[in-house]
Amino acid sequence: MTTTSSRIFNFSAGPAVMPESVLERIREDVWNIDDSGIGVLEHSHRGPVIDRVFEEATDRCRSLAGLGDDHEVLFLAGGASMQFGMIPMNYLPDDATADYPDTGTWTTKAIKEARKFGTVNVAFDGSACGYDHCPKANELSLTPGAAYFHYCSNNTIYGTRYAAPPVTNAPLVCDASSDMFARPWPFADHALVYAGAQKNLGPSGLALIIIRKDMLEKGCRETIDLLDYRKQAAQGSRLNTPPVFGVYCMGLVFEWIHEQGGLIGIANRNAEKSKIIYDAIDGSGGFYRGHAQNDSRSEMNVTFRLPNEELEKAFVTEAKSHDMDGLKGHRSVGGIRASIYNAFPVEGCRSLAGFMADFATKNG
Ligand SMILES: *Cc1c(COP(=O)(O)O)cnc(C)c1O
Repeated sequence: MTTTSSRIFNFSAGPAVMPESVLERIREDVWNIDDSGIGVLEHSHRGPVIDRVFEEATDRCRSLAGLGDDHEVLFLAGGASMQFGMIPMNYLPDDATADYPDTGTWTTKAIKEARKFGTVNVAFDGSACGYDHCPKANELSLTPGAAYFHYCSNNTIYGTRYAAPPVTNAPLVCDASSDMFARPWPFADHALVYAGAQKNLGPSGLALIIIRKDMLEKGCRETIDLLDYRKQAAQGSRLNTPPVFGVYCMGLVFEWIHEQGGLIGIANRNAEKSKIIYDAIDGSGGFYRGHAQNDSRSEMNVTFRLPNEELEKAFVTEAKSHDMDGLKGHRSVGGIRASIYNAFPVEGCRSLAGFMADFATKNG
């Protein structure tokens, strides 16, 4: 049975679209994985099948990210937001300062959590410009000797992204929740990269963490075992019963990315996909107005406004009747947001661009 015909184009910001070949494989393995006669949800987390699942997910992540022996790969519960707290809890001493450029809602939340443990220097305040871009080098105020520098590579809500990681002497920490493995990125240069799974990697409730061993050893506080990176690393992320199903799904998504030509193949597709929609915005004679400044435009989340809110409402409703769902923008920005993560098909971008042109002609 194939269900492709009953699926629609899902522009949801997260949880978001998964690769169809991965969904089909999951359907089989839920019933019986590795010919074991037992489904993936029913296996002991310490048995050989789940050993294999964890090993493969880890190896595939290492290979995609280009990691050597200096880094550990962890899979931890609590999603990206748990990392907002775990990072300062482990790595921001009471008397130290960490640099956090604020590029919108998610970094604002990360800053709030970090302030519970130490001092935060807001290295860039994007609120003044409505978070329409990521800071350039000359817009950053850096703290000499900062414990680390935390940034968000792709700002899901505003549709902005960094073209390259910011330059700083402090250990680099990146929230890559909404563009993990969407393009080549110097992962190995980072002290810590984390991503909640539900945008580009798999089911929600789980985060992928890549951590450099020198950072791992810097733990500055005693905390509960589950929130201690060193203890999690020592036990291969299996201190307790971990989110096995999510790790299993991530492993399949990593394999799918390899099949798409790795990060370069994926990045080429993402550039092509996002260009289709940005061209529809730029070619509309001002009917559609992009939120992000051009050099900060995200290839994962395309955000734009229409002439008024009534038209925006009508746009979302009509799009839905054309089998395109999830286009309503986040309440803090308004307008339209098309989330087109790795697994989102190019046909969906063409379908949206065609609809945009028709809608503008009818309502312009
Ligand atoms: C979605 C998102 C988060 C929050 O993820 P949770 O798993 O719900 O905690 C954090 N940061 C970014 C950039 C996101 O897109």
